[in-house]
Amino acid sequence: MATFHEYVEQNRERFLNELKDFTSQPSVAAQKLGMTEMAHKVKARLEKLGAQTKLIPVEGGFPVVYGEIGDGAKTLLIYDHYDVQPPEPFELWDSPPWEPEIRDGKFYARGVADNKSDTLLRMQAVESWLATEGALPLKIKWVIEGEEEIGSPNLGKFVAANRALIAGADGCLWEFGAKDSHENPMLICGLKGIVYVELHAHGANRDLHSGAASIVENPAWRLVWALSTLKNERDEITIDGYAETVREPNALELEAASHIPFDTNLELEKYGIKQFINGVRDFDAVKKLYFTPTVTICGLHSGYTGPGGKTVLPNHAFVKLDFRLVPDQTPDAILKLLRQHLDAHGFQDIEIHLTETGEHVARSPLDSDIVKAAQAAARATYGREAVVFPTAAGSGPMYDLCQQLNIPAVSAGAGYPDSRGHAPNENIRVADYFQGITFIRELIKNFAAN
Ligand SMILES: [Zn+2]
Repeated sequence: MATFHEYVEQNRERFLNELKDFTSQPSVAAQKLGMTEMAHKVKARLEKLGAQTKLIPVEGGFPVVYGEIGDGAKTLLIYDHYDVQPPEPFELWDSPPWEPEIRDGKFYARGVADNKSDTLLRMQAVESWLATEGALPLKIKWVIEGEEEIGSPNLGKFVAANRALIAGADGCLWEFGAKDSHENPMLICGLKGIVYVELHAHGANRDLHSGAASIVENPAWRLVWALSTLKNERDEITIDGYAETVREPNALELEAASHIPFDTNLELEKYGIKQFINGVRDFDAVKKLYFTPTVTICGLHSGYTGPGGKTVLPNHAFVKLDFRLVPDQTPDAILKLLRQHLDAHGFQDIEIHLTETGEHVARSPLDSDIVKAAQAAARATYGREAVVFPTAAGSGPMYDLCQQLNIPAVSAGAGYPDSRGHAPNENIRVADYFQGITFIRELIKNFAAN
């Protein structure tokens, strides 16, 4: 009988053809394009493994593809998504986004990096295991949703309605991942939370001649004054009670972060800036990047901003703000603090509009079995230590599927720094794809054993 690696080698062309099949099917949730076809394709691929599958409808959204296979003391949950980002602008692609093409060892197509390659290679790894090593040593459950790229608006509802299917899993393999610029595999063990709001200030019942400004209050000034109470020039968030909501990283998290490569000068050059906030460098920059919350003015608008001058007193001003959250902050608690703070500082008139549903923080214990198994799998596959990120600086629905059910999660995948997820010429390196298949084998082996 062939070994795992021989089997993968023998099926190399077919595996790549399957990836072409997956990526030539458009599946853009934001444009409601090809979603049903893609859901059925993913379900059919799971069925080919012999998995029990179902399409679980999501009210007002796209169905979740659910699959289950194997048996053992442990259960591994795998989270992927079958939707992708819109491919526009088409003219910036060197080959059309829905016509996958391999050039110079790289596979180009919309969605190949995020995250159709990982979705498929995880199934192909299971197929290769079954064909060469026999029964799986654990149970695998797949949750493959169709709305990740539009912010997973229904994943929380899905979990609430299907809790029994997912609860009790011992660990989760999350959807994305890549090697860093030094070819080190990266393992991401958490995500920041987020709240996105608009603050609105209103003045007179219409825009006025700015001659009236000596007696009629300007909402743009009120908004600026309110904003200036949220953060100071040392980048400290000065919302009343805010500092008390921040939990400091633990010893394991700090130790892991100390191994995250960060070349301060290179990073500064990349952004074209002279220094980071407060002049932080190296490990201090890493700690600030991953372990501190942020308040970001994403957009600010009032009055006239066109060419030339217009002496107008605007009657409305608004700002878009995002708050990235760290443990133990929650979207609800932060919203409440913001309201209380504005009221206490005399800004009762400033309205808070919640524009998107927030996302909770997720942080997996770094000594959990799934993280340790992924580290061992990286060692066996890539011959080097993985860089373990206690969290990414971004956000996602890891809390909804994993953290709220106490399932530790780790993210790993077949991307590399130039994968261009969400952008034109999205691609992966074919060699990374096949290493990714080996990684899944090692993960299954190590996770079942420890
Ligand atoms: Zn993704």
